[in-house]
Amino acid sequence: MRILVVEDDPDLARQLADALKNADYAVDTASDGEEGHYMGETEPYDAVILDLGLPVLDGVTVLERWRSEGRNMPVLILTARDRWSEKVAGFDAGADDYVTKPFRTEEVLARVRALIRRSAGHAASELDCGPVKLDTRANRVWVGAEPLKLTSHEYTVLSYLMHHPDKVISRTELTEHIYDQDFDRDSNTIEVFIGRLRKKLGVNVIKTERGLGYRLSEPEDA
Ligand code: CA
Repeated sequence: MRILVVEDDPDLARQLADALKNADYAVDTASDGEEGHYMGETEPYDAVILDLGLPVLDGVTVLERWRSEGRNMPVLILTARDRWSEKVAGFDAGADDYVTKPFRTEEVLARVRALIRRSAGHAASELDCGPVKLDTRANRVWVGAEPLKLTSHEYTVLSYLMHHPDKVISRTELTEHIYDQDFDRDSNTIEVFIGRLRKKLGVNVIKTERGLGYRLSEPEDA
């Protein structure tokens, strides 16, 4: 899962980016509204954390532009405590949730998890596919009762597929959602991750759709 953080306070931006990276998200950051708008317009994010008080272009305008351009990724806005009118303007512009500054990073992470889940149509924080269970809170995976040890990238690939079951996901789409902008991307490595994941899972839930990509579905004999 890939997140965009648009925040002009460098300390806060770093704090958020570090916490998100620790939680196995790919993270891009923008420090003004114009740059943030451009990134959100051109890159596919699974969620955006958007400060409202931003240089060059304010957060509400950024959000209004995305929505009018048909960008529908979930957006969490950051607002100052005493600015209720800002919150209202944010929601009216198309925000999905908000957090008031100062905030606990854990709360932001929990809200981002919930936004990503809900935008993919899942209410519960645990995702299932046959015997495979993925806990989005703890970033842990089980097959039956057996816990799996996955690397950060393996987890990210599986998490993206588990959020989008029964859909054909191309290698390009996976690549775009597991790496940040600065990463030296190579879609061939996706095949490597998928191969390792299949081996570790030991059950046939990741199907290859020849020439199209991968599809997560329950094993036929389950
Ligand atoms: Ca600000």
